[in-house]
Amino acid sequence: MTSRLAVIAGPTAVGKGTVVRHLLAEHPEFKLSVSATTRTPRPGEVDGVDYFFWTQARFDEAIRNNELLEYATVHGLNRYGTPRKPVEDALARGENIVLEIDIQGAKLVKAAMPEALTIFIQPPSWDELVRRLSTRGTEDASEQEKRLATARVELASADDFDYQVINDEVAKCAQEVVELLS
Ligand code: 5GP
Repeated sequence: MTSRLAVIAGPTAVGKGTVVRHLLAEHPEFKLSVSATTRTPRPGEVDGVDYFFWTQARFDEAIRNNELLEYATVHGLNRYGTPRKPVEDALARGENIVLEIDIQGAKLVKAAMPEALTIFIQPPSWDELVRRLSTRGTEDASEQEKRLATARVELASADDFDYQVINDEVAKCAQEVVELLS
């Protein structure tokens, strides 16, 4: 199998993080790209593992130096970006690399690297997406409203992706992703 750059995106609360974790646990031949972000770490998050936690100044410098393959402001709050070099090095070594990034970022990667395979994770239904967002309880009501508004716009982008996979059951969704990448 030739090395693959896979970009996995989807609306808020669709469960893409869980799908990606499952994919990586079952398929160690895929490595996750560690993104940079200006947001503050959550309890338990480790710099260089979960994210590179950068200051605004460091992020600006990375943009100036063309160190980022793509970057975007997510949920109107913090900036997130994919460091270019680790991705290029992994591909040069013949490794498979997975990016779990937002929809704007996914489109930018596809434009820069058309060989990337972009996968849009779909919720089984709109009501189920609303339910997942409210039951995870990490956002207050007004933040949930904002994310759902973004999700509506994002769902309209699904057709711009190479493939769409419905996340009704995590293991099944991850398996479908593996099959697309193989
Ligand atoms: P969180 O702050 O919850 O870890 O992530 C928020 C959002 O940022 C998620 O939708 C995630 O996909 C997106 N994200 C994480 N890393 C990147 C990145 O490198 N680039 C872009 N464009 N989005 C990212």
